[in-house]
Amino acid sequence: MRCLGVLIIAVLAVALAGCESSQQVIDPLPAPFYPEQRPVRPPEPPRPPEPPPTPPRPTVSLSGATIVIDPGHGGGKPGAWPRATSKLPEKTIVLDIANRLVQELRARGARVIPTRTTDLDVDFDDRARIAEENRADLFVSIHADSAPRRSASGTGVHVYLKASAESEQAARCIIAAFENAGIECRGRFQNNFAVLRDHSRPAVLIECGFLTNPGDARLLNTPEHRAALAATIAAGIAEYFTR
Ligand SMILES: [Zn+2]
Repeated sequence: MRCLGVLIIAVLAVALAGCESSQQVIDPLPAPFYPEQRPVRPPEPPRPPEPPPTPPRPTVSLSGATIVIDPGHGGGKPGAWPRATSKLPEKTIVLDIANRLVQELRARGARVIPTRTTDLDVDFDDRARIAEENRADLFVSIHADSAPRRSASGTGVHVYLKASAESEQAARCIIAAFENAGIECRGRFQNNFAVLRDHSRPAVLIECGFLTNPGDARLLNTPEHRAALAATIAAGIAEYFTR
């Protein structure tokens, strides 16, 4: 028994000694040092979508604008004249629309320069020169269309292959005016027409309908429809110059 008592005491002593050593104070380790570490930034919130670019606007208002109105063809060049559908040739129809358009725009205060006011042929070079020399804020050529298919119908607005932003914006405004007036419009087309290409001014060429289409031709042969076309084109031009 004595031996057992001694053994228990010895075991307790060893256990107590172990407890004592686990209570030793150990110096804390120094804080880790990471020279490359930088503060972590929170991720940036997603950016709102970019607003659409503001459409280009001319630098003048309509009342201060110089506008060249260019009735196509004239004199010995009648333009489209499908006699089965149209009593009048293109040159006569577009001159009447253009003359009315000149009056509409002058009434709104614009300085308007027509390339012809009578049945006169004007060279392409001269039409482009009139736009350039007068530093036209807008050049508008007026035509009527023709096509092999009689079913082709409606107005259309043409710009040059490398059209300026201003030309594109003028085309958009005129197309919108046709749509607002309920006049069929086929939209915008790009073309290499000399009157759009051979000067530096903003320019559009408007086809006012197909003389090969019986419905369009019947309308284009009436003064009422030609007046409606002139008023609608004037409204589109006025919208382009609205600032
Ligand atoms: Zn023409």
